Amino acid sequence: MNRERRIPRKELPPEERVKNFDEVAIGYMKEEAIEEAKRCLQCREPRCMKGCPVGINIPKFIRAVKEEDFVRAIKIIKENNFLPSVTGRVCPQENQCEGSCLLGKKFEPVAIGALERFVADWARDNNIIEKPEVKVSNGKKVAIVGSGPSGLTCGAYLANLGYSVKIFETLHKAGGVLAYGIPSFRLPDSVVEAEVEYVKSLGVEIEIDVLIGRIFDLKELFQNGYGAIFLGTGAGLPRFPDVPGENLNGIYSANEFLFRVNLMKAHLFPEYDTPIKIGRKVVVIGAGNVTMDSARVARRLGRDVTVVYRRTEVEMPARKEEVEHGKQEGLEFRFLVSPVAFYGDEQGNVKIMRCIKMKLGEPDASGRRRPEPVEGSEFDMNVDTVIIAIGQSPNRLIPMSTRDLQITRRGTIVVDEHEKTSIEGVFAGGDATTGQATVIAAMGSGKRAAESIHRYLSSK
Ligand code: FAD
Ligand code: SF4
Repeated sequence: MNRERRIPRKELPPEERVKNFDEVAIGYMKEEAIEEAKRCLQCREPRCMKGCPVGINIPKFIRAVKEEDFVRAIKIIKENNFLPSVTGRVCPQENQCEGSCLLGKKFEPVAIGALERFVADWARDNNIIEKPEVKVSNGKKVAIVGSGPSGLTCGAYLANLGYSVKIFETLHKAGGVLAYGIPSFRLPDSVVEAEVEYVKSLGVEIEIDVLIGRIFDLKELFQNGYGAIFLGTGAGLPRFPDVPGENLNGIYSANEFLFRVNLMKAHLFPEYDTPIKIGRKVVVIGAGNVTMDSARVARRLGRDVTVVYRRTEVEMPARKEEVEHGKQEGLEFRFLVSPVAFYGDEQGNVKIMRCIKMKLGEPDASGRRRPEPVEGSEFDMNVDTVIIAIGQSPNRLIPMSTRDLQITRRGTIVVDEHEKTSIEGVFAGGDATTGQATVIAAMGSGKRAAESIHRYLSSK
């Protein structure tokens, strides 16, 4: 057995995948998963587990894979993770479990994410539905606002503890960013739908098309008999660079662009009701996962796509793998460049993006070197469509309709270490409290909130 190198994962070739939305990364076959599992050292003090925000017993599930006992493996994973087909695909493992793996000190770390995905997909393909033992109903009701990973996780834990849980979701489909943000070539719709169905099978009810803060406010939820409320409303409010011309036609927020294509299938208009207007030359501004997803979606729609970032490739927060995939698919990159204004034609359609060159100065609060404009270096880029992907904040609808709910200047809901907000009986987690973070971090906070809610309602 070769401990040095991991079993490589196959991928669809770039020239093929750029024409469709099929999943790029192909999962391990059974034999490959077993071979990869054999590389694990079964450390006595597994560092990988310290890197896992939900505390999966990683060596134990890997040992089960090695022993070809996939039922045991899924049982172990599901003790701490209700959405393993999702996390096996989108978790930044390189910074978490795999980043901490002992084997990685000398060789390539164990491919923990690919093994997790293999086990979860195997269980789904073989109809193995591992459900934890559900406690008898305790007659207490909990309302959850938002069906993203934090809300789904919080709901699943509480249902297992015997609570009657209802998730209210404003969109017509459950899953949060998993459903509307992350494109299907990274996370297929069928995977998200199956994970949502699993959470429902635990007894969690999901009501779609309900905007809390408008249809009901939190006070009314309490009046309707809910003993506690969890806010998992995410960070879906796009930020703009605040430069002249940013309201011209053809300038989208990444959220709107991804929403139209991923959720509303606008690229298939008129077969689907929602249209999207997108020109030949597309520029995407930003450098995170949202940027890469937007750029790769636009590429799949057959456009020439350039990613513009004010720092260099080294500082890009997107997963390295996604940047590599984007390059293979033909994305262009312009580093150390920032937009200063947009200009349009007589119809108000964006045509020119005026940019300025940047240089890197001293590190800022984030530890990354601060970009500084180079005086007199302005230049113009011809553009037909611009997608702004420079970050998102939490929506303020609930804070605005809820007196006494404390928020920070950035709009995130203030919580203590038990995910309690400033209002008794109201808890919050995920991106709504941290700003945009990760799926697994959102799940971790959903789990913590469920534990807190259980303590709170048990003591009443
Ligand atoms: P969300 O997933 O945002 O879900 C919140 C839900 O609440 C939404 O469905 C929303 O409609 C609903 N809601 C909001 N307000 C209300 C209301 N008033 N009433 C009813 N419902 C409401 N993370 C990774 O780990 N890996 C990745 O590769 C990755 N890629 C990403 C790509 C994109 C394009 C985006 C946008 C994010 C990505 N992330 C990634 C981040 C990750 O998806 C989020 O951190 C995570 O989804 C946060 O989960 P959440 O439950 O807090 O909120
Ligand atoms: Fe296996 Fe790496 Fe975890 Fe050690 S740290 S148990 S080698 S996955």
